[in-house]
Amino acid sequence: MSRHAPHLFSNGTRLLTATDAARLVKHQGLGPTFSGLLATLESDFRRWPDFDKSPRVACHAPDGVVELMPIADAELYSFKYVNGHPGNTRAGLSTVMAFGVLADMHTGAPLLVSELTLSTALRTAATSAMAARALARPDSQVMAVIGNGAQSAFQCLAFQHLLGVNSVRLYDIDLDATHQLMHRLGGSGLKVQACQSVDEALQGADIVTTLTADKTQATIVHDHQVRPGMHLNAVGGDCPGKTELDPHILRRGRVFVEFEPQSRVEGEIQQMEGDFPVTELWRVLCGQAPGRLSPHDITVFDSVGFALEDFSTLRYLHQAAQAAGLLQPLDLIAHPDDPKDLMGWMWHAAAHTH
Ligand code: NAD
Repeated sequence: MSRHAPHLFSNGTRLLTATDAARLVKHQGLGPTFSGLLATLESDFRRWPDFDKSPRVACHAPDGVVELMPIADAELYSFKYVNGHPGNTRAGLSTVMAFGVLADMHTGAPLLVSELTLSTALRTAATSAMAARALARPDSQVMAVIGNGAQSAFQCLAFQHLLGVNSVRLYDIDLDATHQLMHRLGGSGLKVQACQSVDEALQGADIVTTLTADKTQATIVHDHQVRPGMHLNAVGGDCPGKTELDPHILRRGRVFVEFEPQSRVEGEIQQMEGDFPVTELWRVLCGQAPGRLSPHDITVFDSVGFALEDFSTLRYLHQAAQAAGLLQPLDLIAHPDDPKDLMGWMWHAAAHTH
């Protein structure tokens, strides 16, 4: 990656609004956006040791969680603010809402403030596809999708564009959610089947994606439903006390995580003893650890969402939105001509305010 000069901030902080992020996807096309994100994610995961990493910081309430996710390399710093409130949809709010900041590590100056609600869905789907490319059987074509809410359309379309999945089998306890997803996927070229149960959805599936939202230790997929050769993309269990898989599946399969210290607390593996063996995904991507060993392996990507994925996303958005002319100036940081005369700047700025 090129060195970011300290004078980058001479342009000031830029803003990418939610609407402009949507315009960016439309301008580029969804498939190329997934491909661009995947390339950025892969290049950052392959230089894993370059990053100053820590588990995210979470504040829990009975209804949900609010989290801060910081990370940095020598050039750039990023953080994401994100919540997870499974009851929100009943109040007309999204379960997951997010924004983030990208800053210059040489000066600390914030370069970009960006929406990350839409972009979290894009990056989570691209990360799942990145893991599945390394772990699922290469001939995988059919995906079961359990939980048909906000993330689900992104997962289906990322797996179509990046993996060649051509058929999805959908199940949700909320029939409306499944119908909406079917409508959303209309015209995509995917074969779409609504199912009455998890059992039915898993019939003939090569990949199983779980995307349910419930702040509980749930068993969405049972051991007897999982056949040899399947790849599980477990996305919905992503905080303490919130899981989706029967622990026996984890024992039968080989489990891959993002950042082990965070996944031990938040992932499916919170159900297992502390020395339960897992492999960090970056090692597979770098060729340091094997992924799938045989067509009969059960592989599990125990996804919780790690700060590096948002770092890559902000880096990608910054470049892509700048190229598309979709960044706006944001009057966020006081910028006095004489940095030691902040008060002089205050009176001057106030005098020019209407
Ligand atoms: P959402 O609320 O829009 O959708 C969740 C869906 O799950 C709902 O339609 C609900 O009816 C369904 N559901 C709940 N319990 C179910 C069950 N037992 N069986 C079948 N369906 C069930 O939420 P979303 O934004 O789509 O997020 C889904 C989950 O993914 C959340 O738990 C969220 O925290 C998680 N998530 C994880 C990551 C990550 O990186 N791992 C990123 C984003 C979101």
